[in-house]
Formats: sequence, C-alpha cells, structure tokens
Amino acid sequence: MERIVVVTGGSRGIGAATCRLAARRGYAVCVNYRANRDAADRVVADCRELGVRAFPVQADVASEADVVRLFETVDAELGVVTALVNNAGILETQMRVEAMDAARLQRVFAANVTGSFLCCREAVRRMSTRRGGSGGAIVNVSSVAARVGAPGEYVDYAAAKGAIDSLTLGLSKEVAEEGIRVNAVRPGFIYTEIHASGGEPGRVDRVKAGVPMKRGGQPDEVAAAIVWLLSEEASYATGTFIDLAGGR
Ligand code: NAP
Repeated sequence: MERIVVVTGGSRGIGAATCRLAARRGYAVCVNYRANRDAADRVVADCRELGVRAFPVQADVASEADVVRLFETVDAELGVVTALVNNAGILETQMRVEAMDAARLQRVFAANVTGSFLCCREAVRRMSTRRGGSGGAIVNVSSVAARVGAPGEYVDYAAAKGAIDSLTLGLSKEVAEEGIRVNAVRPGFIYTEIHASGGEPGRVDRVKAGVPMKRGGQPDEVAAAIVWLLSEEASYATGTFIDLAGGR
C-alpha cells in the first residue's frame, strides 16, 4: 500500500524537514502551507526529485472549510491519507499574560489547537477501520513549552501545546482499536523562523546556554523522530511523546 502523508505547515522549518525525510522514505507528500507558496513549491520540488508524488495545498488549518478542502484535495490528487503530521503552529510577540487580549488568544488557540483537532478529525474519518479505512498514524507537534509554561514569553502558546498533549493522549485511546496510532513530539529550542514571529529571531542562541546539551536543535533532528513515529518501526507506540530538547 502506498503511504501518503499530509504535513500541515510543510513549507518551512520542522514541517519542511519532515516532508523531505518522508519523501526520502518513499511517502507521497502533501505539503500544506498557509501563505508562503514559494517555500512550499521548493519543498515539493525537492520531494519530487526524490522520485515521489508531491504537491502543495494552501489551507489555513484554523479554518474548518479549508481543512475539509485540504483533505478532499488529497483524496483527489494522491489517494487516501495514511499519515498525518499536525505541525502547523504559530506563536505571537513575547508578552506577559496580563497584557494578552482575547483576539490574540483566539488566534493562538485557533491555529494551534482547533487546527490540529480538525485535521485529526478528517484523518480519522479516512483511516479508521470502524469506518472501512485501513488505519494510519498521526504525529502531533507539541512543544517542551507544554511542560515548562514559557513564562514572560507566551504562556498562551504553551497552554495551546498542553492541549495538544491532551489531544494526543485522548485520541490515541479513542482510536487504538481502529488501526490508528497517535503520538507526539515535543521539540525544545529549534533553529527555525518561528522565533522571529515572537519578535526575537536570535532567541535560540540567547537561551541555548540553559540547555543541558548547550545548543539549539535542527529541524532534521525533530523530523527524524516524527518520521520514526509514523513508521512501522513504531508499531507498538501510541499515546506517547518524544522530547527533542537537548535534555531540557
Ligand atoms: P515555522 O518555521 O514558523 O513554520 C511554520 C509553518 O507552519 C509554515 O510552513 C507555515 O506556513 C505554517 N503555518 C502557520 N500557520 C498556519 C496555518 N494557520 N495553517 C497552515 N499552515 C500554517 O515554525 P517551526 O518552528 O517549524 O514550527 C513547527 C511546529 O513546531 C509548530 O507547531 C511549533 O509550535 C512547533 N515547535 C517549534 C519549536 C521551535 O523552536 N522552532 C519548538 C517547539 C515546538 P507559511 O510558510 O505559509 O507561513
């Protein structure tokens, strides 16, 4: 059976590294992105060069209509999804909780939490043996922030990732008998452009002295764990977490 993976936020950072590694392992790849078409096209080109089918789909995971269209497009272009990586995520400018307004909280929870729930829903509807599917695997991209809280920076983002951990635990049990494994990775400080959206592009270098391994991580080091959790080598792993945080 051909393996078909949907990677949300596959255009940049950890998602892009995941798309490229999945392609190397023979997956057909749907590279979802929100706005950066050029970046998505570059990832798609790299995947195709590896000899697999790949294509980009613009969809904002915070929008239910977009998520439905994303999975319908995958049905039509690639076939039934066998793997989902809920990687799309955002954070906003660093600030204390006392300064956060409801609009910000809604944006952060919509992209990080609602988006992952909706993508899980669409994947389960297609994968579940209870619904005639052939099973599959889901990996949610959480964060070490879920267990340390990101004080003074983005407690909202940390709380959203806490919700992703609960989603992983609950859904994994809900679908364990239906051929679907659900796991998560919790990256620490990884060199990507997400820190610029928090207002501090050089954040990883500022904080790396506090990491036991004394360095930030690379997107490829996270992608390796994600693709392993998707694979048959992880066939008895569900509802579990891999922290990729240099010992933090
Ligand atoms: P990034 O470099 O900023 O890339 C974010 C990706 O998500 C881009 O492909 C972006 O698409 C996409 N995206 C953002 N909002 C979206 C939406 N609403 N719908 C669809 N796609 C959306 O981020 P990253 O650092 O690789 O982060 C990836 C995941 O790892 C996130 O869930 C993040 O929370 C998590 N994480 C990162 C770190 C870290 O230190 N980097 C640590 C822990 C956890 P466009 O290119 O179109 O903008």
